[in-house]
Amino acid sequence: MSTGLRRFTEPEPPPPRAARECCELCSEPIGAEHGHVVNLGTRALMCACRSCHLLFTVEGAAMGRFVAVPDRYLYAPSFVLPTADWEELQIPVRMAFFFRNSDLGRTVAFYPSPGGATESELPLETWDRVMAANPALADVLPDVEALLVDRGDDGFVCHLVPIDSCYELVGLVRTRWKGFGGGREVWEAIDGFFGDLRGRSRVVGGDTGAEDTAGGTGPGAGGTTRHGARDGARGGAGGGAGGTGGGHD
Ligand SMILES: [Zn+2]
Ligand SMILES: [Zn+2]
Repeated sequence: MSTGLRRFTEPEPPPPRAARECCELCSEPIGAEHGHVVNLGTRALMCACRSCHLLFTVEGAAMGRFVAVPDRYLYAPSFVLPTADWEELQIPVRMAFFFRNSDLGRTVAFYPSPGGATESELPLETWDRVMAANPALADVLPDVEALLVDRGDDGFVCHLVPIDSCYELVGLVRTRWKGFGGGREVWEAIDGFFGDLRGRSRVVGGDTGAEDTAGGTGPGAGGTTRHGARDGARGGAGGGAGGTGGGHD
């Protein structure tokens, strides 16, 4: 695993609460509702004011070092993923997220675990096959968007989400998981998380004929994300990481 990826896996503990209320790029005060920017050099997620977020939605801004996390949510309830392909991915839990790391030039796979985001080696052929079977999700943006796959009783569903959503889920699992199976509290929180995602997502794929919805308010629309509660989850996760050292191997 490269150093950069490692840092994305193990975000540095966030600054104290008061400091987090400011844009991490220009220090302007920001409210609970704000967007995020990925620093491609460190793979860190940074809280951004509206101006800074807008600035980095422009492709190539700051030599491509910072990229704004867009606010696009798609839901593919009939995601095509043969069980044999899922098993090749060797994900030990029911959910995992996949995103393209532009530094590495390939898609990487992570799953939430009590120890944080854990990387799973991704057989490229398998992933190419999965993407070919799911064209509605093919335009996922590198570094800032991810495909979040959840294995339910009736098959697989997939959400195309801003990358910060995945780290919200990671934080939720890390801070609330108890014992071997996780416990009721964490699974209720996970169900709530996916329920919230479905509520904000546009449905794509399958036989709904809804693929034209992939236009419209796509990435780069420039809005800030609405996630006061989500940032709270992230802060809690980071706090937990800080408290426990966060530096496990
Ligand atoms: Zn700013
Ligand atoms: Zn934030």
